[in-house]
Amino acid sequence: MQNIKNRTKITNPHILELIKECVDNTKTMDFKLPRKIRFLQCEAARRAGLATYKDSTIVLSTFIYKETDEAIKSVIYHEIGHLIAGPLAHHGPVWQRVVNKMSQITGIKITRLYSDSDMPIHAEERKKAYKYIFRCKSCGCTCNYLRETVFTKTYNEKTLTGKPRWTCARCGGTFEKIKG
Ligand SMILES: [Zn+2]
Ligand SMILES: [Zn+2]
Repeated sequence: MQNIKNRTKITNPHILELIKECVDNTKTMDFKLPRKIRFLQCEAARRAGLATYKDSTIVLSTFIYKETDEAIKSVIYHEIGHLIAGPLAHHGPVWQRVVNKMSQITGIKITRLYSDSDMPIHAEERKKAYKYIFRCKSCGCTCNYLRETVFTKTYNEKTLTGKPRWTCARCGGTFEKIKG
């Protein structure tokens, strides 16, 4: 389910400038673009952007505004790519062809998902908000908690048979606490 609440108009002039640049560039790429694309913003914390097809609307998550222009434009192109590729394309080959062409022309890397390295400032801020961070000693993946849980209290306990009570879902390793 897409959360359509709390969408507001974009007023940040710098972001409006970047949007204009991306839309104008895309118009030169001979894709079939919706006649008018509406841009809005919301406060989503995880998703960087969202496209809705019925009303040709792109919703940017405001946390991306803190990132580099390149990262912001990447999200804008990603979402314009969805409007061009259509609702059935998802991140499949049709969408990929569109964004590959955008990347070739603009030199901007457009990815399917945005990882922490694409959005380093947001990742850093999120990390600061976490009270507890644990790392798997084998594969290095981390789990983060905003507050104390059963896991944060017992992450290195063993069961009666001597096996670790908690193991990494990815690799079966055990955890070490790196913050908290
Ligand atoms: Zn997408
Ligand atoms: Zn692991």
